Amino acid sequence: MRITIVGCASFLPEPNRRQSSLAVKAGDMLFLIDAGDGTAGGLVSCGVQRRDLDAALLTHFHPDHTAGLVPLLLAMRVRDKRQRPFYIMGSQGLNKFMLGLSDAFGDWINAPDSPFKPIQIKPPSSKTWTGDPLLTCKSTSHSEFSIGWRIESESKALVVTGDTELCGSLIDLAANADVLICDSTAPDEKPLPGHLTPRLAGELATKANVKILVLTHLDPETRAADPIGRAQQVFSGNVILAEDGMTLEI
Ligand SMILES: [Zn+2]
Repeated sequence: MRITIVGCASFLPEPNRRQSSLAVKAGDMLFLIDAGDGTAGGLVSCGVQRRDLDAALLTHFHPDHTAGLVPLLLAMRVRDKRQRPFYIMGSQGLNKFMLGLSDAFGDWINAPDSPFKPIQIKPPSSKTWTGDPLLTCKSTSHSEFSIGWRIESESKALVVTGDTELCGSLIDLAANADVLICDSTAPDEKPLPGHLTPRLAGELATKANVKILVLTHLDPETRAADPIGRAQQVFSGNVILAEDGMTLEI
């Protein structure tokens, strides 16, 4: 499995970071997980080919996780003349979200000949794709229908929390994962409802017995406050601070 961090910023705009987005090659499939602002250009910067993407997996519909979706779809439609399906998977609210995009940006997004195929799911849910990868999602504690994603392929497991607080379903989702890419938005001294901090990310990693913890979605204040050290106070595994363009192979 190859994981590319396309964007790692929080909801606060930063000069040199894009918002939440990951590209994950698992088996024969190439997934995009979330598509915050800057995703379409970020894929170009990271050398991830748009035409190779099979599906987008959304954790929730807040703009720092979805605002980059329309520019990506526009490039697929107009530049790439895409015909083969591009699946967009998300929790309850996805169909309404897609119709809202059509209202705002044009019905090319949901027209009958559109390659963009929403798959609305109700967590907990699992789906196996041809060519091996197994996707599982479970509810998280952030917005009404927010979810986290687990991708398993060739005996490896990646878990992406999206935005969340610590909760039981998240610990289940992350159990024994090789890599946990975890919301760490706020400093430990100033926790933000609906989000984790670096130390809480470490707690989750310990409770779920993961091997590698990747801290992401940090606001600039959190990033400046020794986030790796905070996570390592409670987690003895490997801790990595996400950067745009970083890749991990597991
Ligand atoms: Zn967010």
